[in-house]
Amino acid sequence: MNGNKVNSIKTYQKELFNKKVELMTSLGFNFKRLADADRRSEDDLIVALRDEFLHLSLNRVLSGQLREVESALDRLNSGEYGACANCDTSISSKRLQALPWATHCVDCQDKACAGPAQEAVSLGTSLTG
Ligand SMILES: [Zn+2]
Repeated sequence: MNGNKVNSIKTYQKELFNKKVELMTSLGFNFKRLADADRRSEDDLIVALRDEFLHLSLNRVLSGQLREVESALDRLNSGEYGACANCDTSISSKRLQALPWATHCVDCQDKACAGPAQEAVSLGTSLTG
């Protein structure tokens, strides 16, 4: 019984870690693009600024996702993982498998209507029943 729980925690940990690496790689790529923008000539300034704005917006979304993934990893370490941050109900394993960084149960998620970052991350929502 306990072994099962440990097993799935390891699975979530792996998923979360993979996601973290993926997000950090994306963020690293964007930072590099920003650094490149510094070397552009003044004529390209407006284009560069527009690009920078787009990359910063993207970075903000990615940073938000990264924060969620990191806090999920924290909760795994502290043993609080899988409990809804709002009502303390256990989040269903089905939902956690689709969305390992989920912080709220389906009910609270629906009520809260979530922020844009959460929306972007919630690709698996239709699977969570
Ligand atoms: Zn809840």
